[in-house]
Order: sequence, then structure tokens, then C-alpha cells
Amino acid sequence: MLTVLEHLPDGFLTARGPELADLLGGPALVHLPGERAQPLFVSILLHGNEITGLHAVQQLLSRYRGKALPRAMTLFIGNVEAARYGLRRLPEQADFNRIWPDEAGRLHAPPSVETRMAGQVLEIMAKRRPFAAVDVHNNTGHNPHYAAINRLEGRWLQLARAFAPAALYFRYPPGTLAMGFGALCPAVTLECGIVGAGSGAAHAAAYLDNCLRMTTIADETPPDEALRLYRTVACVTVPDDVSVTVGDAAPGQLHLRNDLESLNWQTLPAGTALGRVSGVAAMPLEVRDVNEQCCTAQYLRLDGDQLRLRQSTTPAMLSTQIRVVRQDCLCYLLERVGRPHGAHDG
Ligand SMILES: [Zn+2]
Repeated sequence: MLTVLEHLPDGFLTARGPELADLLGGPALVHLPGERAQPLFVSILLHGNEITGLHAVQQLLSRYRGKALPRAMTLFIGNVEAARYGLRRLPEQADFNRIWPDEAGRLHAPPSVETRMAGQVLEIMAKRRPFAAVDVHNNTGHNPHYAAINRLEGRWLQLARAFAPAALYFRYPPGTLAMGFGALCPAVTLECGIVGAGSGAAHAAAYLDNCLRMTTIADETPPDEALRLYRTVACVTVPDDVSVTVGDAAPGQLHLRNDLESLNWQTLPAGTALGRVSGVAAMPLEVRDVNEQCCTAQYLRLDGDQLRLRQSTTPAMLSTQIRVVRQDCLCYLLERVGRPHGAHDG
């Protein structure tokens, strides 16, 4: 299932997302040489609709056309079949950012062609001793650009800080590429805003260029003022049997407020309404904590036909795209992490 190349295929630098499946024949790993041998691992299009990573890499590599990269780079181009249709994933596929074993080698997804491919990529990269791994994504709702990390360690925090002044630490959901690469090198996931929204590709390209030029990554916790760190405390999903709508659509059992996405990364007070309910006896959302335990009642309450927060919280990745809400989740809930002095991942 995996194509391995030692050079960029002709046409890659100008290819559009939907053309990659034919150009590459499937997910591809492309090893590119550079002045320093230890490669930067860059992953794009794990979600086929998130094309900012492709644009960033095209910008970056166009800049170095005919010149040596400062450091070798291995480019992983993920879900090209879904990219053909502009989708996050195809219905029969596993989510390409939930298929990676964790640092201890444990899989958190059922074995599939996708998990085997992920294992193959890690095996190939383990031999090449990557310098760092960067996985480029888009958000589906309006969010500031930020990096996500899965360990509270100096090199991870430094990589996050080099991208944006706020970062997200999470261990749930497991199975992300950055978690898998944590066994090999410091790793970050870049969240570059909405697809096609202005500066995402340029920001990611500049960041990747910076990573290619780094000679070392300091194993030091950045000062408080340099990095505001949040952690995921829960994930909010819509049960399959609840109809969910937004905007001018005829209201379903849960009708989300129109400006929901403007609430991302805001500290919301208790009582904030997320939407209206109709014709439901039970809470039309489910909240699960990082141990996958239900904690809905702790965060949400019904107040007449209003669905409100029971306690103050900070949502991220709130989206009003119903397909995304169905395939992934409505949002994550965050809390600020105290300065991780000497903190270690538990
Ligand atoms: Zn993504």
C-alpha cells in the first residue's frame, strides 16, 4: 500500500490535492537528501481535505529547487485517495491520524491496511533516526494557529513554541502520527487554521524551513510567557441517533448556534449556550474524559430548550460542518496547564 521514492515525482510541486492519487499511486514516503543527514520527517494530507500541508511543502521545496536542503527531509503524503474527493477520509477507511501505535508500540485502532501502513512508515523511519517530526493539519472551525504535542518535555515544547505562542497538550485521542513518532524523535502536529484561509500555508512553510535549518532542539522548558499551554480534558460528540443542524436548516433535535466557531480557544463562563434542543428527553451530546469515561453532566445541562455549559471551560476545534462533527467530534474541551516544571508524561 505504501510507495517509497528517493526523489519528488515530476509534477508534484504544482499538483493539486485531487491529482496526487494518480501521481503517487497511493500513500507515499519520499526521501529527499540534504546537507545534514538526519532527516526532518514531514507529514501532509493524513486528512485528505486538509491541503494546507501540501501547499506549504510545495512552497518550501520550490524555494530550494536546484539547491540542497539544509537537512534531509522525508515527506509522507498520506490519504491521497480521500484527497481525490476533498474528503477527510473515505467511509471505508480508518482515519489516518488514529492508526499509529503509541510510543510503547500499542495500537489503539483495529488492525487494518492503514495500521499496517503506519507500522511500515515507522519501521522505515526508525532506521533513519529522524531529527523531528511535523504533521501538518487544518482545523475545520475557526481556530488560531497552534501546535499540538503529546509529551511535556523540553524538545516537544520548543518545537511547539517555534510555531505559535499557544499550544495544546493531549494524550486523547490516541493513535496520532505525532504520538507514534514520539518513540523516535520530538514530534508536533501543526493546526494551520481553516483550509484556504490566508496565511496557513505560508506559516507552515516558514516553520518547516526553520526546522530544516535547526542544528539542535534545546531540551528546555520554554519560559511561561513564551508558551501558553493547554491540555485536552474531554471530547464532545453527537450520538448517532441525534439529528444535528446549524444555520438556516430546519432545526433538528440539536440546533447549534451559528457563531459556534467564534467560541474556539475562548474561556467561556458557565451558562454559555451552545445551541437549542427540540423533541429530546435526554442530553443530545456526549462528553467523555481522557479515560473515555462519560462526564456529560459535569459539563452540560439543559435549561428549557437551551443547551448550556454547566461549568466554565475552553472549547477548541468547535466546528459547524455537520459531516466533520459526525466523523470526528463537535469539539474538545481544554484547560490551562500549569508550568510543566520537570513534569513528565504519566
Ligand atoms: Zn487533520
